[in-house]
Amino acid sequence: MLNATHSPQLQSWVESANQPGCDFPIQNLPFGRFRRDEHEQARLGVAIGDQIVDLLACLGAGVLPELEPALVAACGSITLNPLLALGPAAWSSLRAALSQLLSSDSAVYQRNPQIGKRILVAQSEVQMLVPMEIGDYTDFYASVYHATNIGSMFRPDNPLLPNYKYVPIGYHGRASSIVASGQPVRRPHGQLKGPNDDQPTFQPCRLLDYELEVGMVVGPGNQLGQPIPLAEAEQHIFGLCLVNDWSARDIQAWEYQPLGPFLAKNFITTISPWIVTLEALEPFRCAAFERPADDPAPLDYLASAANEQHGGIDLTLEVYLASAQMREQGIEPVRLSRGSFRHMYWTIAQMLTHHASNGCPLQPGDLLASGTVSGPDKDARGCMMELTWRGAEPLELPTGETRRFLEDGDEVILRGSCSAPSAVSIGFGACRGTVLPAL
Ligand code: CA
Repeated sequence: MLNATHSPQLQSWVESANQPGCDFPIQNLPFGRFRRDEHEQARLGVAIGDQIVDLLACLGAGVLPELEPALVAACGSITLNPLLALGPAAWSSLRAALSQLLSSDSAVYQRNPQIGKRILVAQSEVQMLVPMEIGDYTDFYASVYHATNIGSMFRPDNPLLPNYKYVPIGYHGRASSIVASGQPVRRPHGQLKGPNDDQPTFQPCRLLDYELEVGMVVGPGNQLGQPIPLAEAEQHIFGLCLVNDWSARDIQAWEYQPLGPFLAKNFITTISPWIVTLEALEPFRCAAFERPADDPAPLDYLASAANEQHGGIDLTLEVYLASAQMREQGIEPVRLSRGSFRHMYWTIAQMLTHHASNGCPLQPGDLLASGTVSGPDKDARGCMMELTWRGAEPLELPTGETRRFLEDGDEVILRGSCSAPSAVSIGFGACRGTVLPAL
C-alpha cells in the first residue's frame, strides 16, 4: 500500500537526493552494509543521494528516538539479518522514521542543520559489503524466454521441457561464493569437452558469460515443515537486489546432465550492494505475466487473483559492457541489453511459495535469484549466450572488437530502475565485476 514515504512531493535536505535521475531519492531508501576501511567493524546504512545514512551513528546521535528496542538492536547490528527477521511492520516503521529524518522538513534537521556531519558518509568513501549473512542461495529459471532460448541451443528438438509451465524450476546454488559488486571475477578452470573431443580436459573456461538476474532477500521465513501460502509470501521478502550469475558455458554443457548446474555456476556470483525494499517498489507493481491462452493455469497453491493482478514488478534492467580497450580509450560502457522484470513467467511470490511448499525452511538472509531475465525482444536477452546465439552472431564493440563471450578485462555492469507516471523514479545502483585472466 502507498503511504507518506512514497509521496512524489517529498524532498530531502540531502541535496544530491533531489537531482533528477538519482538512483536514491528519499522515496527509495535501500539498505546496505559498509565500512570506511578494513579496520572498521561493518555497519548498516541506507543510501540517500550520493551519501549513506550510517544507522549506528543515528543511534549514537539519538535521531531515531521512536524505534522499538528490537529495531534499535537491528540497526546497531553488523549484518542485515536481525532486521530481516523482524518482518514487514518493523521494516515499515524504520522506513517511515528514516523518511522523516531525511525529509526537507525534518525536525532534527531544522534544529541542527549540521546533523549530516554526524550521520552521513559519502558513498565514494566506503567499501560496500554483502549486506547479510546468506545461509542458502537458490537460483530459479523464471523467464520462459530465457528457458526457451537456452533450451533450443542445448536441445533443438525439445527446448522447453513439459514441467516448465507447472514448476518454478530452480536449483540450489552456493552461498559461499556470493560477493559484493566490484570484486574481480577470476576466470575459472573446469572440465571442457567439445563435440569433437574424445576426452574432456581440465583448463580455463573459454565460454565465460554473465547472467542478469534479480535477487530476493528473505525476511522471517518459515519453520521446517510449515509451507508459506501464496497470500503471505511477500511478507517474507524484504527486498530485491541485482544478481550477476557468472556462468561458464563450456563447463556447463559437459556437466549439466543429469543433475543440473554445478561448478559452471558456483565459482562466483556478484550482487549489488543495495537492497531495495518491497515497500519502496510498491508504486511500480504491475500485473503478473499474462500466460498465453493455451498454457496451463498455475496449480491452486500458486494461484490467486491478487498475484495475477499485482504480482509483477515493472523493473527495467540493463546490462553494460566495457572492455579493457574501451576503458583505455575513454569510451563509455556500451549497453548490451534492456528488458523488464515484468516479463517473468513466475512472480516473486510464486517462487518463494513454491520453494517452501514442501516444508523446506527459508531463513532470514537467504537469497533467491530469479534466473536470467530475458524478454520477448532480441535486445532484452539477459546473457551473452542468448545475445550472440552461442557465439554464432558476435557483438561488435565501439572499438571494433567483437565478443562471442566475455574476454579477460571485460567489465560487466548491471543496472535496474523503476519509473511510473505518478511516482519518483528509483534505481538499484550498479552491480559490477571485471574478468581477470585464469591463474
Ligand atoms: Ca542463473
